[in-house]
Amino acid sequence: MGKKGLLLCVCQGTCPSFQNMNIFEVGNAIRREKLVDYAAVHPQLCAEDGDEFLSSLLDGGSTGTLYVAGCAPNMMRKMYRDAFDAAGFDAANFRGVEIRDMNTEQAITAIKDLIAQDNA
Ligand code: SF4
Repeated sequence: MGKKGLLLCVCQGTCPSFQNMNIFEVGNAIRREKLVDYAAVHPQLCAEDGDEFLSSLLDGGSTGTLYVAGCAPNMMRKMYRDAFDAAGFDAANFRGVEIRDMNTEQAITAIKDLIAQDNA
């Protein structure tokens, strides 16, 4: 079984949709409970260098499940497809959750719920 990774994607940190949360505290809450093997914030995964980040991260196959909290999951799935393909990562192992317009607590709960679905 591969590692579980969490990426927080935040529209460069300038979008009003993310202004009501402390994104670092969101990541810390998940880390503290050891719900994933690694967690990181990326400013813009749907940009070209975001593709590069994703394909580099996933290359080698050590990540079994990738959770991304950001915009709408269907949008993320489409935007990350090329990077997943480039890394040989099966898109079925991607889990997305939208956290836009949430506060810190709401975002933490949404991510925990997403991860819990896999552990049910
Ligand atoms: S993938 Fe979604 S959350 Fe991330 S920068 Fe692009 S639009 Fe924003």
